[in-house]
Amino acid sequence: MQHTFTINTSQRMEIIDINRKVEEIVTNSGVKEGLCSIFVQHATAAIVINENYDPNICLDINDMLAKLIPQGKWRHDQVDGNADSHIKAAIIGPSETIPVKNSKLQLGRWQSIMLCEFDGPRSERTITVTIIKG
Ligand code: ZN
Repeated sequence: MQHTFTINTSQRMEIIDINRKVEEIVTNSGVKEGLCSIFVQHATAAIVINENYDPNICLDINDMLAKLIPQGKWRHDQVDGNADSHIKAAIIGPSETIPVKNSKLQLGRWQSIMLCEFDGPRSERTITVTIIKG
């Protein structure tokens, strides 16, 4: 079972919780046990699982990435000025896989699924959720 949805972003670098949307897709899939894959179809965005109960964690992740990977000093910047966005997306990665049990994502108490925007704002970031019965 597969479901695609889009979200819009409002900042150049931003981490957005998509947990509720993915949970809804898992519930509607009717799959009781299996795997859920979340994949973002872009070269300058990523998917991460971490805590956002304290929103400072997401800000800290972005601050760390911005410090490690500054803007404007890479070869690809001559093409469209967003090499740092590509590098950040490559490090975090475009997907995550989560076990499903009793029709629920088996996330830990402090884990949330989040979209990382590294080259926003964008009107459409496309995310595909695939649920495999297992
Ligand atoms: Zn580019």
